[in-house]
Amino acid sequence: MINIAILGSTGSIGTQTLEIVDSNPDIQVMGLAAGNNVDLLEQQIRKYRPRLAAVWSEKAWHDLQMRVADLPIRVVCGMEGLLEIATMEETDILVTAIVGMIGIRPTIAAIEAGKNIALANKETLVTAGHLIMPLAKEKGVSILPVDSEHSAIFQSLKTENAEQIEKILLTASGGPFRGKKREELASIQVEDALKHPNWSMGQKITIDSSTLVNKGLEVIEAKWLFEAELEQIQVVVHPQSIIHSMVQFKDGGILAQMGMPDMKLPIQYALTYPKRRPMGGKRVDFYELGQLTFEKPDTETFRGLKLAYEAAHIGGSMPTVYNAANEKAVSLFLERKISYLQITELILEAMNNHKVIANPTVEEILRTQTESEELLCSLVGSGINKG
Ligand code: NAD
Ligand code: MG
Repeated sequence: MINIAILGSTGSIGTQTLEIVDSNPDIQVMGLAAGNNVDLLEQQIRKYRPRLAAVWSEKAWHDLQMRVADLPIRVVCGMEGLLEIATMEETDILVTAIVGMIGIRPTIAAIEAGKNIALANKETLVTAGHLIMPLAKEKGVSILPVDSEHSAIFQSLKTENAEQIEKILLTASGGPFRGKKREELASIQVEDALKHPNWSMGQKITIDSSTLVNKGLEVIEAKWLFEAELEQIQVVVHPQSIIHSMVQFKDGGILAQMGMPDMKLPIQYALTYPKRRPMGGKRVDFYELGQLTFEKPDTETFRGLKLAYEAAHIGGSMPTVYNAANEKAVSLFLERKISYLQITELILEAMNNHKVIANPTVEEILRTQTESEELLCSLVGSGINKG
């Protein structure tokens, strides 16, 4: 049996993880955590019968407790609830499918408790990779990437020696605005940015994909996961999203992992690793596809990617500022309080205003997050930054 708990079970990755559970009878769900979508979480509880469930707010906690009073389940809430789910005694793997830096503390707690991590929550590694990777090594736990690019790199590396890596070729679809110039992006509305050409995902990552901040986060994620130098990570725009990423070795050979754009493969691989199990779904038809194309990313238009490299070069608490400012800016954009171009302008502003902490602790990372959020609110409130 493979016993799992899921942080963020009602989201895009969370629900697809449960689809993998449906087709793998030896995977059992012990704990589920979600934000405030009590309706869907109740349905999931009735179907998968976990022993523990967590929601974020007290209101949702009261509501869910009443709804599942007939079942042998305990309902918890808030950060304490997430930490309980993360460290449940009976689980082998924690799937971190929650969105944002809220994943840091539960992920660290799970590693300390010896759980392997199926990691979708990239914000955690971007901001706390310097704490998480050594801790995972010390505790002997595996960080199994769920992000499709990182799973592709992980799969391509399997037979090779990590020291033989020359370069990581991180592919990017380019998002819905590929080919546009900066001036053309000024009037982009929330609805436009939420239309991703190849992937159906949660709102935050869909916006991040359109600004290429997602790719920036993935560069930093790859640096930590594969102990790579930033200079070794090259982003390649590949609009068809068939090659999910590649590894180039020191002899010039390149291994790529390909497939249809479907997150279920990387999710299943993370849960059943090192085994590769059968899976249904559409296959790549190369005759139908005709060609695979590649481009250089336009970092003048999509400044978010360039800023990620800068933040990672500076290191310390700067990637936290990059990520926290983006999280806040995306939520302000989704609330229609700022314009599309202001997202990256505010990230730059926050980075320019930050005094770097070299080796931040969890507390310092979370404090930096709060400070970055406050700075953004004051900039937007005072109208200094009009995109
Ligand atoms: P989503 O918005 O669809 O789902 C997020 C989940 O987190 C939901 O279940 C939500 O209820 C839960 N959540 C949010 N705030 C919470 C809180 N305070 N307490 C408890 N639960 C909370 O997001 P998603 O697209 O599934 O992405 C999740 C993570 O996976 C992100 O870090 C994203 O970057 C990463 N990721 C997603 C995809 C994808 O295809 N969706 C691909 C690669 C990586
Ligand atoms: Mg990805």
